[in-house]
Amino acid sequence: MAAAPANEPTFRESVDLMFNRAVALMDLPPGLEEKIRVCNATYTVRFGVRLRGGIRTFTGYRSVHSEHMEPVKGGIRFAPSVNQDEVEALAALMTYKCALVEAPFGGSKGGLCLDPREFDEHELEQITRRFAYELAKRDLIHPSQNVPAPDMGTGEREMAWIADQYARMNTTDINARACVTGKPLNAGGIAGRVEATGRGVQYALREFFRDERDMQAAGMTGSLDGKRVIVQGLGNVGYHAAKFLRDEDGCQIIGIIERDGALFNEKGIDVDAVRDWIVKHGGVTGFPDAGHTAEGAAVLEEECDILIPAALEGVINLGNAARIKAPLIIEAANGPITAGADDVLREKGTVIIPDMYANAGGVTVSYFEWVKNLSHIRFGRMQRRQEEARHQLVIDELERLDRYLGDAWSMTPEFKEKYLRGADELELVRSGLDDTMRIAYQSMRKVWHEREDVTDLRTAAYLVAIDKVASSYRAKGL
Ligand code: GLU
Repeated sequence: MAAAPANEPTFRESVDLMFNRAVALMDLPPGLEEKIRVCNATYTVRFGVRLRGGIRTFTGYRSVHSEHMEPVKGGIRFAPSVNQDEVEALAALMTYKCALVEAPFGGSKGGLCLDPREFDEHELEQITRRFAYELAKRDLIHPSQNVPAPDMGTGEREMAWIADQYARMNTTDINARACVTGKPLNAGGIAGRVEATGRGVQYALREFFRDERDMQAAGMTGSLDGKRVIVQGLGNVGYHAAKFLRDEDGCQIIGIIERDGALFNEKGIDVDAVRDWIVKHGGVTGFPDAGHTAEGAAVLEEECDILIPAALEGVINLGNAARIKAPLIIEAANGPITAGADDVLREKGTVIIPDMYANAGGVTVSYFEWVKNLSHIRFGRMQRRQEEARHQLVIDELERLDRYLGDAWSMTPEFKEKYLRGADELELVRSGLDDTMRIAYQSMRKVWHEREDVTDLRTAAYLVAIDKVASSYRAKGL
């Protein structure tokens, strides 16, 4: 991947620059802007684990950006490149993200400096549990204080270990399960959490394509159907986004960029086949149904309608921004476009759907999971009786209509069965996510189109988010 040139600011500075651009258009009381921008605290932990006959020391972080609402929320990342600057930038983005989609959390983020591929499952469990212990004993994992979730390099398995570690340390806490989200279903998780961030990217794009003005801004017409998409990173987020856009909205995935190069095929690529190939072979190299290039970064610069960076921060930087041809970029990753690249792209008229909104599907469904854990009841269970009675009324009416219309129309048994069953947890989660993504987009769209001094969606997103954080500080004090 094209490395960011040395003259670029760090990730955290980049987030701050974008924040500053937005607050310059706001009328905040003196000092409040700084209070919101700065990261409240970052905890660094170094701990040893006995591995393969020796002792390995690991470094991890948990950063708390803003406690205007508690608990604070944000994922834990496992990657060799994790550092303090990165977790602080990511924690800040969590604050704005939660505010924008009205998930009632402050922002936090954690990271452990290691390459998970270097360790077997048992070793990873030991390391994860020890890290969780270090954080939990300082309330940096806690159902009402700080609730982690998956991020790059972690998933359901790690969240289950973390939840179990917390529960062992807090045997009388009836809400222990709510100490972390993104758990497997059988360990207190919620249906649809794994797909949630990719699903959110899909819902975000659908909302974008509902408004002529938005499409026009990117020089587009029509709908998602037939749009050519390039996705960078086929991890959990990139895979689900690409799959849903291809299978359900008629997009063509013409490019896939991975660690070991990129695939490109103008006729479209079968995302599931590539995912299976990666699982078997560890990368995209050798995949038979698309051209492969070892220099993956070049594919970022190919012609397409929608570019979806869904992996690391800083992949679109001053080194390549001018050559990016996509008229619409949706930031499925956190911080994939540096502040400098953002200036270049805005200048060119590229429309960017910003990270703090585009990838908020994950934390939104995390919120549902947290509420489910705290309420100790399966989603939908309370409403079932009432819902069933309502559904029966509709079915009775439809049956009458069926008899009346004779051969002209008839109700299929499948419809009747599905309707009477009512919505299950997955359907409830998806509809709640869709609603959230639509409403948040509409709040950005309003600022984008109604304020003369706002010319891009990122600034609009910051304005909406900062305004919410500021109101919360104003209401309850610092
Ligand atoms: N790591 C995800 C993010 O960056 C999810 C966070 C969460 O669910 O708390 O938004």
